[in-house]
Amino acid sequence: MIDLKKFEVWFVTGSQDLYGEDTLKQVAEHSQQIVRSFNEAAQIPVQVVFKPTVKSTEEIRSVMQDANSAKNCIGIIAWMHTFSPAKMWIGGLSIMQKPLLQLHTQFNRDIPWETIDMDFMNLNQSAHGDREFGFILSRMRKNRKVVVGHWQDPEVLSQIGGWTRVTAGWADWQGARFVRFGDNMRFVAVTDGDKVEAEKQFGFSVNTYGVGDLVKVINGFSDAEVDKLTAEYEEKYAVVDPLRKGGAQYSSLRDAAKIELGIEAFLKDGNFKGYSDTFEDLHGMTQLPGIASQRLMGKGYGFAGEGDWKTAALVRAMKVMGSGLKGGNAFMEDYTYHFDPSNPLVLGSHMLEVDESLADGKAKCEIHPLGIGGKADPVRLVFNVAGGHALNASIVDMGNRFRLIVNTVEAVAPEHDLPKLPVARVLWKPYPDMKTGCAAWILAGGAHHTCYSQNLFAENMEDFADIAGIEYILIDQDTKIRELKNELRWNDAAFK
Ligand code: MN
Repeated sequence: MIDLKKFEVWFVTGSQDLYGEDTLKQVAEHSQQIVRSFNEAAQIPVQVVFKPTVKSTEEIRSVMQDANSAKNCIGIIAWMHTFSPAKMWIGGLSIMQKPLLQLHTQFNRDIPWETIDMDFMNLNQSAHGDREFGFILSRMRKNRKVVVGHWQDPEVLSQIGGWTRVTAGWADWQGARFVRFGDNMRFVAVTDGDKVEAEKQFGFSVNTYGVGDLVKVINGFSDAEVDKLTAEYEEKYAVVDPLRKGGAQYSSLRDAAKIELGIEAFLKDGNFKGYSDTFEDLHGMTQLPGIASQRLMGKGYGFAGEGDWKTAALVRAMKVMGSGLKGGNAFMEDYTYHFDPSNPLVLGSHMLEVDESLADGKAKCEIHPLGIGGKADPVRLVFNVAGGHALNASIVDMGNRFRLIVNTVEAVAPEHDLPKLPVARVLWKPYPDMKTGCAAWILAGGAHHTCYSQNLFAENMEDFADIAGIEYILIDQDTKIRELKNELRWNDAAFK
């Protein structure tokens, strides 16, 4: 979907001139070796680029300036192999605009007990060199990721790789454009928010277009182009008989295909990375986009219904973060509950637009009436979603700040057929348990719309919030309501 190999993370090693040429040569060789091994690691999806050791205020400032202006550079990994007096870093860190990972590693994994001498000690100083560097970052209140451990440790590689995915999602947001067809669903609070503040904080813009502008593009597609897409539907999905060529509702499938062609063309033409629409504003459209939105999400566009631009943008960022991993990142809504005490469950879905990338097996392409919106019956893909680790994430506007709320969940494969439910659906159990998880979400003000992820972890989302500089609330197996209430109170003070 999105090729993460086009992104670079720069590997910068800090030192000073004090050590002499021989030691500095070894420092550079070690760093190059680490970079080579990072580039061979399956866990790290981006390119890691070696940068010459920085030893002075001027060199540090210069590498930061270069990183700021390098378009493909999405982050910096910094490591103090030796001691690098951190007052030298103040100038560079003050202008640094790219996310930073402080890698607290050392070249050798073990202490060579028999041979260790003062030359060895002179070269391998990150145990205290990285503390000096850590101090100045903390003193300067710089958010960063800290990863500790030997550079060949698979866990370290996974953490670095996960962080590079997060920085790719962040880089994708910078300058990104999202479009809203129509405005917010009338009177809804949580999907609304401050788009000016969002552009300042997150780097993406959201602008509205009248649905008529879209309808014009939709109506511009020829019968032949529509035929081609409906044939693709028939090949890829189990299309119900009435929708197939010659069937009584074949024209509805054609209408749906035309809508997909139109939205995709509009997005490409405007260089948009995602969109939202609302069933209350569909003037000139025959049906609400169902299969169109499901498939466009499958192709990597961000989407959320009812004007929810924050979730549309979050879905897009998480799709970039999860690019190339098994599983999907998808627009989701907590829909209805199973309150059986022995097996409590949340059923997640939407009235139509559940992301195709979650489909477990071949999706069915169906048509059913939609009780709201007052339009023709919309065509949609219906499918089940596999069980396993997952999370829900939501960004809300608290007035003076944005808050990212994450709830880890355990998805379960459906135990029953749902023959009369004409939408795609997911079942999950929230952590730490149904009652605590739902109460915590509600106390934190989490939205009913989320991005549901099958391949990202809470640590990724925390890194994302740190890079964005926003509040982060995690609801997981350790959550206790009383502690959460305090955390929310304290955060109100912290963000004043
Ligand atoms: Mn909704």
